[in-house]
Amino acid sequence: MDENRVRVRLTIGYVGVFALTLLLLGVVAVFGFSSALVIQQDELLSQEARNTTKNLLEGSESELLATESDEFGWIALEPNGDVMGRNWTTRPLGLPDEDLFEETLQEGEIVPDTVRGKDGAARVVSMPMYDDSGDLVGVMQYARSLQRVRGTVNELILVLLPLGIGGLGLAAIGGAYMAGWARRPVREAFDRQRAFIADASHELKTPLTLIRADTEVLRRGLDDPDDQELTDDVLVETDRMSNILSDLLLTARLDAGKLPVDEQDFDLVPVILDATDRFGKRAASRDLRLEIDEPPDGLVARGDPARTGQVLGVLLDNALAHTPPESGVTVAARFRDNLVETVVRDTGPGIPPEHLPRVFERFYRVDKARSRASGGTGLGLSIARDLARAQRGDLVAENAEGGGAAFRLRLPRAAGPRRAKG
Ligand code: ADP
Repeated sequence: MDENRVRVRLTIGYVGVFALTLLLLGVVAVFGFSSALVIQQDELLSQEARNTTKNLLEGSESELLATESDEFGWIALEPNGDVMGRNWTTRPLGLPDEDLFEETLQEGEIVPDTVRGKDGAARVVSMPMYDDSGDLVGVMQYARSLQRVRGTVNELILVLLPLGIGGLGLAAIGGAYMAGWARRPVREAFDRQRAFIADASHELKTPLTLIRADTEVLRRGLDDPDDQELTDDVLVETDRMSNILSDLLLTARLDAGKLPVDEQDFDLVPVILDATDRFGKRAASRDLRLEIDEPPDGLVARGDPARTGQVLGVLLDNALAHTPPESGVTVAARFRDNLVETVVRDTGPGIPPEHLPRVFERFYRVDKARSRASGGTGLGLSIARDLARAQRGDLVAENAEGGGAAFRLRLPRAAGPRRAKG
């Protein structure tokens, strides 16, 4: 499931970058295209303004766009602002434009600009008119409505849009494929690493079992208390190492998804009773109460009873290890929404809040020295949570009210007809 998440994230990232690139390219294309169109307009309008000026001043008869289409319009003004000539479309196109008129008179050269007419934006070229002797005799303003020009830009956008959406679709398919392809070597490396850990742990177990057996035989023949103590230490350490190897093996199998986990409806109460029985002796030896809150009837969960027993074992082991003598550990189980929840609560010191989010990390120990002394590997809770999750449940840690730690194991409720109401 994690691998799929990586694949989805990579694909989203890839599509995101591609979409941004497309957007940038689209904006640049549309902007460039509109600027090119405006330059083209200005050239066309300047030519038309020149022809109209010739028609007016020299009486020549050039054909004008303004006589063919109401998109175009012109007006010629004398330097004092009187109208020298015009066609009928000037007003909707925003002609004459007084600012442009003044600027043209002052500069004595062509001034192009976009103005707002009655019918929307129009491009205007304002050009000084000179007679044969080179005297300024007026200003010619020639305009074209920008609606048609904008329409062309909109058409370009309409062409680019489906292309862009199609490109994104292809990018998503390509991205998903490439993400799968890119993570293959990583997955293979992980698989090799897991296989190595599993094999190494397995291989180390055999000599360790032999060392333990031989040490026990040796121990029986020793009379010197110092020698006995030494061999006892060896036995304790080999047991600890054996536990670490078992945990490593389990972790590697869980990671590889190779740990068989059953999915069946099962009664939770016998599983709890069995787990508490296993720890009864240890609790009694330390004068600790190990109590079960009366569970409701028909507490049927869905998952693997043996794995659930394993999770409860880790929680009870920890709870008893952290609870001071003459106090107690309680196990309570009940329905909670569509889950069955088992809470293991102790009356120990609890877990410092800053450590709470990290206790499920591998090899994480709050108090390293104490944990090591009590034989802890720092893997217990991480395995327990993985086992809960492998059953589609979860395991969460909190500090109980009034002190102590509380671990909540949540499993799905039974799916079958045995499902009871809470
Ligand atoms: P370990 O095998 O060392 O106990 P775990 O993964 O089971 O490792 O637990 C991680 C750490 O969480 C432990 O080192 C311990 O400090 C802390 N912890 C676990 N259970 C409890 C508890 N009931 N009360 C206080 N601290 C706890």
